[in-house]
Amino acid sequence: MRILIVEDEAELADGLEAILSRENYSVDVVEDGENGLDYILSKMYDLVVLDVMLPKMNGIDVLKAARKEGIETPIILLTARSQMSDKIEGLDSGADDYITKPFDAQELMARIRARTRIPGSASVDELSFGDIILSKHHQQLSCGSRLVKLGNKEYQLMECLMINSSRIMPKDMLITKVWGPLDATEYNNLEVYISFLRKKLRFVKASVQIVTTKNVGYSLEVCENG
Ligand code: CA
Repeated sequence: MRILIVEDEAELADGLEAILSRENYSVDVVEDGENGLDYILSKMYDLVVLDVMLPKMNGIDVLKAARKEGIETPIILLTARSQMSDKIEGLDSGADDYITKPFDAQELMARIRARTRIPGSASVDELSFGDIILSKHHQQLSCGSRLVKLGNKEYQLMECLMINSSRIMPKDMLITKVWGPLDATEYNNLEVYISFLRKKLRFVKASVQIVTTKNVGYSLEVCENG
């Protein structure tokens, strides 16, 4: 999953980025409200951590503008302890949650996990499709008792396919979700990672396959014959 952090305090933003990356999220950081809003409007994020006190445009205005544009991405506000009015206005303006600075990183992580939980999934740590289970914590794919470790990009790609398992994921959307908006990558890079994942699916003897729909993208399918 891809998370946007809009925070102008570099040390805090870097710390959050490091923690989230360790938990297998992809992270982008922007430092002011105007850029933050542009990134949010790209609709490529699964969650936004938005500071209230920001240069150029404050977090509350960013939040209001995003909701006005129909953006439904979960947004967690970072507010200062003294500013109760920010919290109320934030929630009234469509924030999903807020956390008060200074905060405990573990508490923020718990809230992020809760807000990025896939509806219907049994656990915040696992996704399943057909006979495969993807574990976030262990960054591994398993089928029955067979399991295989995934690299970071492989994990992100598999997670994206599993979350969207009811549809065909366009190639450019997968590239943006996994490699990010700033890291323009070649299509063959995506194809290479898809082939890695196919090998790993065969390795664990999964009945799940990655199907290519020509000129459109990729999707997951359960193959009855194994
Ligand atoms: Ca700030």
